[in-house]
Amino acid sequence: MSQTDFSTLKLHPALLKNLTSLGYQSMTPIQARSLPHILNGKDVIAQGQTGSGKTAAFGLGLLEKLEVKRFRIQSLILCPTRELADQVAKEIRKLGRSIHNIKVLTLCGGMPFGPQVGSLEHGAHVIVGTPGRIEDHLGKGTLKLDNVNLLILDEADRMLEMGFQSALDAIIDQIPAQRQTLMFSATFPNQIKSVAKRIMQQPVMVEVASMHDNSTIAQHLFKAKDNAHRLTVVRLLLQHYRPESAVVFCNTKIETQEIADALSDYGFSAMALHGDLEQRDRDQTLVQFVNKSISVLVATDVAARGLDIESLDAVINYQIARDIEVHVHRIGRTGRAGRKGFACTIYTDKENFKLSKLEDYLGQTIAAEPLPSINLLDKAVYQPPMVTLQIDGGKKQKVRPGDILGALTGKDGIAGKQVGKIQIFSNKSYVAVSRDVAQYALRKIADGQLKGRSFRVRKI
Ligand code: AMP
Repeated sequence: MSQTDFSTLKLHPALLKNLTSLGYQSMTPIQARSLPHILNGKDVIAQGQTGSGKTAAFGLGLLEKLEVKRFRIQSLILCPTRELADQVAKEIRKLGRSIHNIKVLTLCGGMPFGPQVGSLEHGAHVIVGTPGRIEDHLGKGTLKLDNVNLLILDEADRMLEMGFQSALDAIIDQIPAQRQTLMFSATFPNQIKSVAKRIMQQPVMVEVASMHDNSTIAQHLFKAKDNAHRLTVVRLLLQHYRPESAVVFCNTKIETQEIADALSDYGFSAMALHGDLEQRDRDQTLVQFVNKSISVLVATDVAARGLDIESLDAVINYQIARDIEVHVHRIGRTGRAGRKGFACTIYTDKENFKLSKLEDYLGQTIAAEPLPSINLLDKAVYQPPMVTLQIDGGKKQKVRPGDILGALTGKDGIAGKQVGKIQIFSNKSYVAVSRDVAQYALRKIADGQLKGRSFRVRKI
């Protein structure tokens, strides 16, 4: 039995059995290093990024500790964004599906308050939420944390970056001091260290070496003549490699918007993702990117960090990131789970210093490659395979994925394989359909094929 086998842990047999059925064969490094301490009831600080398996690390600790028969809020998980909170809640439900009646509730900003109060009245074991909204509930007396014995801060550095320090303080103030506290963070600036000192008891530090396997990630370097030339280089690379899902990383929010706008003007299907977007716009952008109806996301590091994008075809660094570790992490977003990814970096002579730092870090030299042919700029710009239809009906209207699929593929319908991802929100649903049948698919829904009613529907 290897040391990374889950069965080396003191885990409930039902949890172990479920891990096997999920296909989790052995622990990831962060799990192997942190789980023994977590299960021992220790406070743990772990360096964990999306993709490392951190959610299962704290999720298994949480499930093992939970007393399901005691119907009280026993664990609180704080996350910087709603997306991350949703992902975490989903993973915990998945890990805990072998234990009956576990109630996991998400409480996030950007969602209506009233229904959350209603759900809280019904009770829960685990709360996953964003700090601002949790603080609001505490202020209104709709949430009580006096039975919490496990507090988890996920992406702690990002919560602080987003200005949640005072909300965190207010929340932690309401949780009994007799508790276990786990903190996951990609980086450890001083601010994090001082928070840890205040809220944790003799924490065990778990550091995990970089997860990236450089051999599966092809690294490419392209030289731009000057800053203005970078956009042309991006266009050439996109036209040459034609990735269905690419992220272009930039260092500033303003730049992401400028580049996304410029790429759109050239006909690319590109959108910006940065912290100043309204949650609703952010959701819509992600829906379209994940379902392959937008090919290019131009993002800042902070905005892209919580993304769980299983297979990015390409990562393009508009410049070398200010921080070399951040840069290497960006590259690691592609080529996950052994897939071949394409990662490239655009640089100018002014960045030679950073380039040699990057080479030192990676322990390899990277030579600049020639740019793809300039003639590509005259060719028609490639388009994403899918188009998103937005339907004005969601969970509240009892619209289910099967209803949408049925409406589209029923009599005289389009083929099942022409229907992509379906995502249902409270009052809206999104379905991706092949670009060539989009108009026809739209008419099928508009003409009252969905649940026998006519829903408003439009291409976005
Ligand atoms: P996370 O870093 O928590 O976002 O997890 C990344 C992905 O890895 C998720 O899709 C998990 O379901 C998956 N995962 C976590 N732990 C394991 C494991 N031990 N074996 C296989 N997959 C895992």
